[in-house]
Amino acid sequence: MPYATRIKPGSKVDLSEIDPGYHDGMQKELAEQKTLELGKQLSELQELMYASGQKSLLVVLQGMDTSGKDGSIKSLLHYINALSCRVTPFKVPSEIEAAHDFLWRVHAEAPRLGWTSIFNRSHYEDVIVVRVHDLVPKKVWKSRFIHICQFEELLHDANTIVLKFFLHVSKEEQAERLMAREEDPDKSFKLSVGDWKERELWGDYQEAYQDAMSKSSASHAPWFVVPANHKWFRDLAIVEALVDTLKPYKDEWKDSLKERGVKERAELQAFRATQKKK
Ligand code: ADP
Repeated sequence: MPYATRIKPGSKVDLSEIDPGYHDGMQKELAEQKTLELGKQLSELQELMYASGQKSLLVVLQGMDTSGKDGSIKSLLHYINALSCRVTPFKVPSEIEAAHDFLWRVHAEAPRLGWTSIFNRSHYEDVIVVRVHDLVPKKVWKSRFIHICQFEELLHDANTIVLKFFLHVSKEEQAERLMAREEDPDKSFKLSVGDWKERELWGDYQEAYQDAMSKSSASHAPWFVVPANHKWFRDLAIVEALVDTLKPYKDEWKDSLKERGVKERAELQAFRATQKKK
């Protein structure tokens, strides 16, 4: 059984049925060892993807405050070559961003062939925070689901592998993480009264997430709910989902590189032959 729950297209998500503290009976040490092993596979797959330039990868990370989006990115960057990876955080839209359609700033950050893009928050904010805070009329955010699904289909048609992760933490775990920031002077720079205010809207956010995932999980752009109360299990679940998704392309990418190697070698030999004649 995979560690993260892959949402079946068209199914209704009920987050209360997925345990955020799930860790498959594993201890931290074993999970870290498995993450390292899978991480090595991920490195190899990502290098092959980059070199063959046939596909690109988009990793979308969403979750409540303190759910571990930043930590997940730090973990992934141990295995993904920064030379061909771009991390984009999406904040409250700037004036120029807000003056465009909601996908404008997102599309510009989509990965080019061979590359990986990691989104820290994404276009899903436009159907989540916007909905919870009533920032635009219901009719507007509802119609965005159609645009989101079509946008992700467009990315898929352009050879982008799209994977979306919801980092699922419990309300209790969030309280502990927020309190830890208050207690630890080294973490207090992360303190924000806004996080406590948003926490009061926990139920609304969970509902918005459930709805968003139910409406937009597709076979070509699946949502994964990641049990995220244990950071080490969260990292393992994400790396596993990435390896499982990229692995089927491995032979194809290797073959294309081999073919390129044969062609380059033939060209080099032809060049050497002309040099000898001189
Ligand atoms: P972090 O992602 O680390 O929490 P911030 O504390 O700067 O970073 O939070 C970014 C904020 O931007 C979040 O509260 C998020 O909901 C908000 N945001 C992102 N995209 C949008 C959007 N399209 N509309 C409104 N708010 C947004």
